[in-house]
Amino acid sequence: MKKIKTFPEQKQSLPGHEYKMNPEPEIIRENYVGSGKLLGKVAFITGGDSGIGRSIAVHFAREGANIAIVYLKEDKDALKTKELIEKEGQQCLLISGDLKEEKFCKSAVKSCHTFFKKLNILVNNAAIQFPQDEFENITAAQLHKTFETNIYPYFYITKAALPFLKEGDTIINTSSVTAYRGSEHLADYASTKGAIVSFTKSLSGMLVKKQIRVNGVAPGPIWTPLIVATFDNLDDFGKGNPMERAGQPSEVAPAYVFLACEDSSYITGQFIHVNGGELVSG
Ligand code: NAD
Ligand code: MG
Repeated sequence: MKKIKTFPEQKQSLPGHEYKMNPEPEIIRENYVGSGKLLGKVAFITGGDSGIGRSIAVHFAREGANIAIVYLKEDKDALKTKELIEKEGQQCLLISGDLKEEKFCKSAVKSCHTFFKKLNILVNNAAIQFPQDEFENITAAQLHKTFETNIYPYFYITKAALPFLKEGDTIINTSSVTAYRGSEHLADYASTKGAIVSFTKSLSGMLVKKQIRVNGVAPGPIWTPLIVATFDNLDDFGKGNPMERAGQPSEVAPAYVFLACEDSSYITGQFIHVNGGELVSG
């Protein structure tokens, strides 16, 4: 059984702190060759400072996009992401603030549009989790915080972005394998991830007439700061899937590239399962 840190003793700083990762996650494969799939596009990525979001940002930049990232207050991580994006020859706008606040969500999207004059790809990705083995230990405070962070901003940000999105633009939402098979450690978190699946399917139907596609990615265990911040015993992290290992962010982000670009032009309302072979459907 995993030894877990409990709410509220868990590093409340998550998000808000940089975590030293050992080993460092792989952000992008050295041999990943960009081919201009997102040339001239602007992407807005929540939680783009670290982990999966950072990896998405760097892949999108390698494919020719400029990037705005939103993060809580991990300035050091965000600056590193900016540096990586600039190394790809693209621009990066850093926006720091709390996505739980609708006002901030509106102003973040507006800043992105003012800076780049457009917005083509929206990636809703920021999240937190507070593992609890006992259901009774999920307090109302934890429940509210988890839902307010993990799902409400998907509505706020999408609403703020919609006036700027045009035909051919895309929205990609990060769910989780826990949405599909549940989790005995993360009942509240898994519930928000299930809500993200329903949100994605509903929104895809609402936006199909505008020719804006809405899809999602449901990662399995991926080596990121979120994991280091919330689990104590990391030795068996990811060992429970058919590949018997955790994935790297570099193995997840290419799915976002596919969903963001024209290669997926006939796909909407769907999820890609990047999870080391665990069979789930939907
Ligand atoms: P991460 O901690 O690197 O990224 C999450 C980011 O969300 C943080 O860096 C933080 O800046 C941001 N964030 C959180 N709360 C915020 C708030 N209130 N305001 C602004 N920003 C806030 O972790 P990650 O693992 O890369 O997570 C990215 C996504 O992947 C999440 O949606 C997570 O649920 C999902 N996911 C991760 C795994 C995994 O094993 N790592 C598995 C399935 C799904
Ligand atoms: Mg972070």
